[in-house]
Amino acid sequence: MSEHQHDPSSITLWNYFRSVIDWVQAIFPKKRKEMKGLAWGLYYNEHGKRIDLDPKKLELEIQRLMGDEDVTKKSGIYEYLLTGEEKKLSIRAFDRRDALAAYEKQGHKCAICSEEFEFEEMHADHIKAWSKGGHTTPENCQMLCRDCNLKKGNQ
Ligand SMILES: [Zn+2]
Repeated sequence: MSEHQHDPSSITLWNYFRSVIDWVQAIFPKKRKEMKGLAWGLYYNEHGKRIDLDPKKLELEIQRLMGDEDVTKKSGIYEYLLTGEEKKLSIRAFDRRDALAAYEKQGHKCAICSEEFEFEEMHADHIKAWSKGGHTTPENCQMLCRDCNLKKGNQ
């Protein structure tokens, strides 16, 4: 590094690098191991100019999401908070046991259209969406046919 320190391009790069670090420290001041190896440069390019990011509110959200068992990809929390993309969190899906229990409880019928289907033709769905506070628990599981599941997903 030292032999390049007067090279203008390396100074520019260094300044950029500092800007990224400063930005991350300003909006996410609490260090966590989940922050390692994330694409901070890309996040900075996309979100570095935003003025709506409140470090205190973000920290409370991080604490809440770190403690949420349905968030299976904790390192995705940072990108989720910046973009709002729920898929970054890999929200836990229902396991086969919960799906089968709901399937039997519903009498093999889709919870929306009430048609009968084979188990393999159905999808386990969150009755109350995770984003609205619903969890991946047996009580919040319903079985939908493929069509109803697609329609619900597009709403
Ligand atoms: Zn249906």
